[in-house]
Amino acid sequence: MKKPMENLFSDSANKLKVSVIRELLKLTLKPEVISFAGGLPNPDAFPVQQIHEITPGVIGNTNALQYGTTEGVPELRGALKKRMATKNVKCEVENIQITSGSQQALDILGRILLNPNDLILTTCPTYLGAIQAFGFQDPRYELVDMDEHSVIVEDLEARLEDIYKRGDNKRLKFFYVTPTFHNPAGVTIPEKRRKEIMELCNTYDVLIIEDDPYGELRYRGKDQPLLKSLDTEDRVIYLSTFSKILVPGFRIAWMVAPTELVKKFVMAKQAVDLCTTTFTQYIGAEYLNKGHVDQHIEKIKEIYGRKMQIMLQSMAEYFPEEAEYAEPDGGMFVWVRLPEHINTIEIFPQVVEKNVAYVVGSAFYPNGKGLNTMRLNFTHPSDEKIEEGIKRLGNVLHQILEK
Ligand code: PMP
Repeated sequence: MKKPMENLFSDSANKLKVSVIRELLKLTLKPEVISFAGGLPNPDAFPVQQIHEITPGVIGNTNALQYGTTEGVPELRGALKKRMATKNVKCEVENIQITSGSQQALDILGRILLNPNDLILTTCPTYLGAIQAFGFQDPRYELVDMDEHSVIVEDLEARLEDIYKRGDNKRLKFFYVTPTFHNPAGVTIPEKRRKEIMELCNTYDVLIIEDDPYGELRYRGKDQPLLKSLDTEDRVIYLSTFSKILVPGFRIAWMVAPTELVKKFVMAKQAVDLCTTTFTQYIGAEYLNKGHVDQHIEKIKEIYGRKMQIMLQSMAEYFPEEAEYAEPDGGMFVWVRLPEHINTIEIFPQVVEKNVAYVVGSAFYPNGKGLNTMRLNFTHPSDEKIEEGIKRLGNVLHQILEK
């Protein structure tokens, strides 16, 4: 008799559970539902014309149709070295590793840095995809609180002191953080705190993974320095992606990291996919080298900045006072905190019945907390739907809170 499939799955595969969130999201697939749940860029912000112009030349280059090196296409790595210099990050081409999305970088970093039971320091909440990627290695988490200016430095210091006091520092592998336009919390670390964080990580000898997919999407306020640009000890692994400044479907992203780490990363990546798609890497290189990117980012900022404004204005008008949220200056999300007694998983069916949806915030808590929170995406719905959706959501929240 044939063995049941679950007897064949590995222990880590058997730990993968059907996510409650995915099940809830199925309810939102009806066309009449206005969904703030996804994290998708808007197709109106895709540079279709530029891709049309670049692609024929790339097809004419057979290297773009061949396997490439695991590190990435030299033209793209070279263009990224120049781009990083404009952000005050000086590095060599050898420090730049191309990945199949930043999601792959998180996965491979987990594989090469974590043993089971190792400790990850991260924000509370944190990026769900990072929890999923690191989850294969069965890590533990030490969680740092955030306020409207992101990481609370005193709490980071208290966590580090505690880790050292209990002798857990040998198991502490890195601090994973999205400093700019956090997913899901929307918040950004100001410069002063960035410097303090770097100082603390130097003092306590902590490696940092700076995940920066949204840094270019600033709609107001002043740019903040990358942690990588403040890094005097080569302890920051910087990640960014073309998913939000070109298109996510190309699956191209990059990492800037210390040479020894890149070497180990390459060995692991060889086992995963040999190389990132060369065709889209060449398109990415041309997109940077032809100078399209900065022009196009301006267009994206115009579209998303307007959408963010519509969402924030609608929230001010329709949301109950008890719903708290920090207004972001960029990125793709607004993070909402309801009174403690409201559970956003429990009220979800009532909300979807009004044909509007969010992502439940507890998905972003490695410790299962945050039951009273939700994440709203403003980049994907049309302008009209944002206002209508927020009105519906506000009305149903009023009803629930009045009960
Ligand atoms: N990190 C964060 C914080 C994200 O929000 C995302 C996805 N939007 C990623 C990494 C992965 O992005 P990608 O794989 O498309 O580069």
